Amino acid sequence: MNILIAGFQHETNTFAPTKATYASFLNGEDFPSMAHGQDVLKLADVNIPIGGFIKHVTGLGHSVTPVVWAGAGASAHTTTDAYERIAGEIIEGVKHLTYDAIYLDLHGAQVTEDLDDGEGELVSRVRSIVGPDVKIVVSLDSHANVTDLLWRVADAVVAYRTYPHVDMAETGVRAAKLLLHLQASGKPLALASRRLPFLIPVNAMSTMLQPARGMYDFLEELETDVVSLSFAPGFPASDFAECGPTVWGYDDDSGKIDTAVEALYNRVLDAETAWSVEFEKPDDAVLHAMHVAASAGKPVILADTQDNPGVGGTSNTTGILKSLLRNGAKNAALGLMCDPVAAAAAHKAGVGAQIEIALGGCAQVPGDTPLVATFTVENLSDGKLVYGGPMMHGKQAELGPSAQLKIDGVRIVVTSNKAQLLDRNMYRAVGIEPENMSILVNKSSVHFRADFSAIAEQIIVVEAPGPFSANPADLPWRNLREGIRLSPNGKAFAKEVAANQAAE
Ligand SMILES: [Zn+2]
Repeated sequence: MNILIAGFQHETNTFAPTKATYASFLNGEDFPSMAHGQDVLKLADVNIPIGGFIKHVTGLGHSVTPVVWAGAGASAHTTTDAYERIAGEIIEGVKHLTYDAIYLDLHGAQVTEDLDDGEGELVSRVRSIVGPDVKIVVSLDSHANVTDLLWRVADAVVAYRTYPHVDMAETGVRAAKLLLHLQASGKPLALASRRLPFLIPVNAMSTMLQPARGMYDFLEELETDVVSLSFAPGFPASDFAECGPTVWGYDDDSGKIDTAVEALYNRVLDAETAWSVEFEKPDDAVLHAMHVAASAGKPVILADTQDNPGVGGTSNTTGILKSLLRNGAKNAALGLMCDPVAAAAAHKAGVGAQIEIALGGCAQVPGDTPLVATFTVENLSDGKLVYGGPMMHGKQAELGPSAQLKIDGVRIVVTSNKAQLLDRNMYRAVGIEPENMSILVNKSSVHFRADFSAIAEQIIVVEAPGPFSANPADLPWRNLREGIRLSPNGKAFAKEVAANQAAE
């Protein structure tokens, strides 16, 4: 069999300050940079779905016809220009290339300037060209807001089962197996799907913690009896009607899949209380960390979740940094502070120099301002590094001209490019050994846990001013579906009330 393959990933926080342009996808940001045609095959060893898919099917003697792979870091809407150029390239491939089936590596939370459901639209365009008989299988991130349209136009959809996403390539393998199953049986699979009635905060989705861990264990138990089951906790920052957690699955027997999906749905729903998260305010969190660190052998980690660039943050807010200084924290380090102007000033001044600058605070987030102070340039770097942790192992990163700045007891990783602090080597790039620090502040929500849990005395999730509201109930929603609870056991969304609030 010859399979047409393509990828197009974006997680859209419709409340974030900056959009994803074609240039964002060319660069890739947290993802590999855009690849066309045969260059897509170079992603075979990367821990992304298309990598796992390529390896699995070619290992079985099938061939692939790659079109394009493009991803950009989470942000506000994908511009119409970027969407139409990339979707257009996929559509051209679908129209003109020769193949037996199609696999698409998508995110499942892409909102564009014109479309609420970037993935459903893309796959329905593909479907309208190939007709009902060509099999289309799609893999998604677990932060996917899956739509009825997508379920209808794809033959099968599967999602990641881990967060941190250590099973991205493995999800590609699951998609490949599903496609081969569909192709071999020649019959469509029965779908069952359910939408949960509440939004889940991103921090509660970590599969290194309960209740998420148990949900996926239960999913795999149930899956021994059906062809495929998925649970996507969703991305609770995309303001449209189908935002929210979903459970779905496929089997030849519609009765069996209905029962399995119902069982998984009820397990998620019954745990509603357990899906809520406790956040600490910056000063509480810093004092808490200092107290623990006083007798700890390992660093205490503060997760600056509301400035996580992986969910649309800009990675340069200063709330926790100021709190560390205000409370006299010692032997602390913070990363990444993306501020190209500060990085350039450090490179110009040189190692050992004192520079007086306004650091960070560039996102114009209410309650966040630059830190104007004198810093010592401790170290300089070109920002090139290779990830060493389990999530992105072996992938190269380009943080651009970077520096280690120091002020009082705090060292700061200042970079020119934005990336989520999810790997210990991101500290080492500017000469900080994370294991030797008493307190680490990571601008990440959950992904950092994959590489940092082993060295952490304790992890505290902090609610400092930032572009991402970790509690979905804090967001100014306008377009959710009527009645969905804005957080576990939280208040229900009412369109009329939201419209009135917006008008005030
Ligand atoms: Zn994700």
